[in-house]
Amino acid sequence: MSDRFLVLGDNHGDTSSLRRVLDDAEGEALDYVVHVGDFTRAWRVARREASERASGDRKGTARREADRREASERASGDRKGTARREADVEAGTQRGAEQLAAVEPLLRRLDDRATHGLVWVYGNQDFFGDLPTDLDVGTEIPEGGRVTVGDHTFTNAPYDASEGEILVTHVEKWSIVDHFDGLAHFCGNTHRGRHLDRRLNAAFLHYLHPETEDPVYGGYFLVELDDDGLDVEARSIGSLDRRECERHRERGVQFQPADRPCMFCRDERTLMRELAASSFYGLTGQPAGDAVRVDGRTVASRGPFEDGIATQRADASVSRDALVECAVDLWADPPAGFRETFADYLESVPEDRYAPLARTDVGTFELADRSYAY
Ligand SMILES: [Zn+2]
Ligand SMILES: [Zn+2]
Repeated sequence: MSDRFLVLGDNHGDTSSLRRVLDDAEGEALDYVVHVGDFTRAWRVARREASERASGDRKGTARREADRREASERASGDRKGTARREADVEAGTQRGAEQLAAVEPLLRRLDDRATHGLVWVYGNQDFFGDLPTDLDVGTEIPEGGRVTVGDHTFTNAPYDASEGEILVTHVEKWSIVDHFDGLAHFCGNTHRGRHLDRRLNAAFLHYLHPETEDPVYGGYFLVELDDDGLDVEARSIGSLDRRECERHRERGVQFQPADRPCMFCRDERTLMRELAASSFYGLTGQPAGDAVRVDGRTVASRGPFEDGIATQRADASVSRDALVECAVDLWADPPAGFRETFADYLESVPEDRYAPLARTDVGTFELADRSYAY
């Protein structure tokens, strides 16, 4: 038995992209629609407001600065806790509530399209749901919990998704990319579409280009899901191309705007960070960079926390050699030079502020105090 899913996300307050999906998917037989979050751009508005106020309200300049900063932070994975403190949360959440109201009627139409309706989670741009109003459509998967809709159980608990469950998270969760027992994992957040085994990152529907502010439209996915896995068809509503990198093919098929190269060729540290987190989890069962909410804020590391900063490290540490062996074993045929490049990366983690791991005094590796796993 198979089920047909329409998977989409990251429309960032935009309604035209949702209309494009509704038009494009007209007549498709669907069992479920899954939205992976970022219905709004509340968080971005919050930061922009704060930045404009800080710079004496010179709107144009401040806006460009805020956008540039966000683009570079998103590219590299920033410490959201700091960003949050800089943000004007009230202005952002107010705008977010307006955006939720604007997208809700379109979500309702998507909900009507599928036998079992729309199933969804909030994203970081939605402050993970910390907005003055709530969406009242379809079925929200409770944060860290699970819900059964039709024949399937959907979970938002990444580290104990059991066999047969469908995991939906906004962020990617590097740790489990190679260690996942569920039926499917749908995620978003990075705006880099990718299908790897049972995981699909749904790319994005719409964002404003960080430099030009031009709208960029991405796409959505039609997924046939059965016990053997996911059969994925990408549907562009703008610029979303299928990309199979020869060097990085084993790490999935990518779906990127036409002018974007392979995400791993563009910055190999993206690959190194993911494999470091995945190997560490494979060896210890301890997840790196698990985004967690503390006092209504989303912070990006393991607890316990104080003011959004982890105050205690997880206890496991592993040797460099063990990590390298584990990472090499994640490939059927590693790219030329991978072993050396990965070993070098581990040596350089003190210089990589976004590394999921840190080096101990005795030269082993443990979870970094703070890391943000996409
Ligand atoms: Zn997003
Ligand atoms: Zn590549």
